[in-house]
Amino acid sequence: MSAVNYGKGGQPMEITADIAIVGAGMVGSTLALALAGNGLKVLLIDGSDLAPRPFNPGSAFEPRVSALSAASQRIFQRLGVWEAMRAQRVNPYTDMRVWDGSGTGAVHFSAAHVHAQVLGHIVENGVVQDALLQALHQADTRLLGGTRVEQMRHSGDDRLLSLADGSQVRAPLVIAADGANSAIRQLAGCATREWDYLHHAIVTSVRTEHSHRATAWQRFGDDGPLAFLPLQGEPGQHWSSIVWSTTPEEARRLMALDTPDFCAALGGRFEHRLGQVLAADARLCIPLRQRHARRYIEPGLALIGDAAHTIHPLAGQGVNLGLLDAAVLAEELLRARRRGERLAEVRVLSRYERRRMPHNLALMAAMEGFERLFQADPLPLRWLRNTGLALVNELPDAKAAFVRQALGLGGDLPELARVAEAPA
Ligand SMILES: Cc1cc2nc3c(=O)[nH]c(=O)nc-3n(C[C@H](O)[C@H](O)[C@H](O)COP(=O)(O)OP(=O)(O)OC[C@H]3O[C@@H](n4cnc5c(N)ncnc54)[C@H](O)[C@@H]3O)c2cc1C
Repeated sequence: MSAVNYGKGGQPMEITADIAIVGAGMVGSTLALALAGNGLKVLLIDGSDLAPRPFNPGSAFEPRVSALSAASQRIFQRLGVWEAMRAQRVNPYTDMRVWDGSGTGAVHFSAAHVHAQVLGHIVENGVVQDALLQALHQADTRLLGGTRVEQMRHSGDDRLLSLADGSQVRAPLVIAADGANSAIRQLAGCATREWDYLHHAIVTSVRTEHSHRATAWQRFGDDGPLAFLPLQGEPGQHWSSIVWSTTPEEARRLMALDTPDFCAALGGRFEHRLGQVLAADARLCIPLRQRHARRYIEPGLALIGDAAHTIHPLAGQGVNLGLLDAAVLAEELLRARRRGERLAEVRVLSRYERRRMPHNLALMAAMEGFERLFQADPLPLRWLRNTGLALVNELPDAKAAFVRQALGLGGDLPELARVAEAPA
């Protein structure tokens, strides 16, 4: 890792780079690692200090987790960070059960339907982040932590970023990986299409009476979906990460409950599928908003991950889409470099947009339809969803297609996500 730069003697320090990535979340860090070792001067900037945290195996689970698809796992394997995640804590799941809480429809997906060993892994976001940062500290990527980008302007063919610590960054290409409320997207004036889901998500880890059986569970209720995602606790202890999406009023009420009352409410809503909820860690409440940038690129700028799109967590796909963005963008930039093209040109960047935008839009549209169908009250729609779930459950081909989609095996995959063998 190169030395972290701070302003000297009060003078604004100017740092130059070929590519400045703003945001070292899971997506920005993955892009930086995918670009490392190719002779490009890549600078990764984040408001946090970018120091990897030593992992304590006895620590409580983090409230923020992601269901990583097989495609995401392959990206991490190819970048050499999956083993570091496995050495910390990853939780494989083999099955998924989805049902309508106000009807009779239910569907069961299994890795066995596509002869795979797992459907995916539930991984704490901090574990992913930490493994990526460890690897970046060994790479030729320059890391600039503990300072936020506040301004961005054009300067000749470059973009000039002004940082909170007074330093400036000059680069012909800036990548916005700075999350759902992307400052870079706003500073560039990129238009978005967005709306409130009128849902808040409560996330935490809970201990249940019975084992989750390596299954991801999702119950659709009138006021939103409730997911139980399997975690590996101490032997004999059954832990799950929950994402409970509900109306803002109900979320406020649930957040105000003490732990025993919250556990009782949660167990009841989950129809006690895993017996009683015995314990719950601290809860986080996150307002949910869908957002999609109308363009992912302009000359000298590309948006990736949540900066380009945010999607309802019921899909469990947000970061999986972002990691594919990162892998495709890295592939296109490195190919353009080999051809001697200017990386900041729209001609180069639009190859990334063309490969990713239709895929992201299709998934977002499907999830929106799904979410609306499950929120719908009229009887014909309730009938449709119950019959639909029952029908899908009886159609092996439809189930296999869904599982392949969840594994991230379909579509235009970047090289980093492609391997002949299904992952173990
Ligand atoms: C409740 C919930 C459950 C979810 N579950 C899943 C799941 O199961 N599977 C899945 O695939 N996805 C899931 N997601 C989505 C997933 O969490 C996001 O898609 C993912 O975290 C986005 O990563 P990112 O790197 O794009 O952005 P972020 O994680 O938001 O990272 C942005 C980074 O940019 C930095 N930053 C921001 N502004 C600046 C600035 N001005 N200057 C410098 N740095 C800046 C921040 O410090 C941060 O490090 C879930 C989301 C929610 C809300």
